[in-house]
Amino acid sequence: MRPLQELVRTNIWNLTPYSCARDEFKGRAASVFLDANENPYNGPLNRYPDPLQEALKEKLAVVKNVAPGHIFLGNGSDEAIDLVYRIFCEPKEDNVVAIAPTYGMYGVCADINNVEYRAVPLNDDFTLDADRLLANTDEHTKVLWLCSPNNPTGNAFRRETIERLLNDFGGIVVVDEAYSDFCDARPFRLDLDRFPNLIVLNTFSKLWASAAIRLGMAFASEDIIGLFNRVKYPYNVNQLTQQQALKMLDDLPHVNQWRKTLLSERAHLLPAVAELPICKKIFPTDANFFLVRVTDAESIYHYLIDRGIVVRNRSRVQLCGNCLRITIGTPQENNILLGALRQYR
Ligand SMILES: *Cc1c(COP(=O)(O)O)cnc(C)c1O
Repeated sequence: MRPLQELVRTNIWNLTPYSCARDEFKGRAASVFLDANENPYNGPLNRYPDPLQEALKEKLAVVKNVAPGHIFLGNGSDEAIDLVYRIFCEPKEDNVVAIAPTYGMYGVCADINNVEYRAVPLNDDFTLDADRLLANTDEHTKVLWLCSPNNPTGNAFRRETIERLLNDFGGIVVVDEAYSDFCDARPFRLDLDRFPNLIVLNTFSKLWASAAIRLGMAFASEDIIGLFNRVKYPYNVNQLTQQQALKMLDDLPHVNQWRKTLLSERAHLLPAVAELPICKKIFPTDANFFLVRVTDAESIYHYLIDRGIVVRNRSRVQLCGNCLRITIGTPQENNILLGALRQYR
């Protein structure tokens, strides 16, 4: 890895971060808070939330097996994605390299930040070609975007291929593991000590069934987490979200039951879809969704919409001609989908 200072934008490296009232007081006991111009009434939501979400990180550290100092929390993974650009990429000068197809937000955030986005196609079977990615990097490439299991293809990449990129690329490698909870492979967040240039993304939106509270996680070296904390909005995770996340973290048995049910539904649904006359190919999945190539994606998509069933039409995405992306639902929802697809003519 190149020295961190070489990878970070100069204005960010030199930034004096905002210091909020609670930062200055921090650590001592008090009962009369007259420092932040809050209204004393309407407690407890009258108070600013903990800007670094320490209680939540303590609990998360145990569940995720990552020390609190290696955790950033944001307004969805989307905040972490945007911060990566704002911290590392000089607009109109630096570039990033990503796989294609993949999650759309990496490209949208590149456009918003006026940073060149180099989309490098996966192989036809959606496997990853490390050499092709590296061949598209140059001295201005700051970030490599990987998503594993990948969205919309569903497959996880080989650990050796990702490790090769972490070792051979001198910039930041982001591994978005939004779906790693549905995959048996060892998650990369457990290997932060081996890879100083690694940022791993996780989210409360998928297995944790909490997309509405907007809570995303980034795991990285303490130095990189320090940069995230300096650049983020001071109170980026609101109090209601912190409370609800703490509650979810106390409910592990429930979450594990969801995982079991969804994996078992996935195991039933895939072979059933594979037998349908409309199915040309089902791609192997390590996530809570799958990609299927059908006879006529456009027509089947609208047929399902007419029956109140919404799937994602990915047929205009690179390498995904005539493909639908289908999320695993409840057993009842999956049966409704299968019933409708069986009646399609
Ligand atoms: C759904 C998803 C996320 C989650 O984003 P949030 O902003 O945390 O809801 C992140 N990455 C990928 C690849 C996803 O598919």
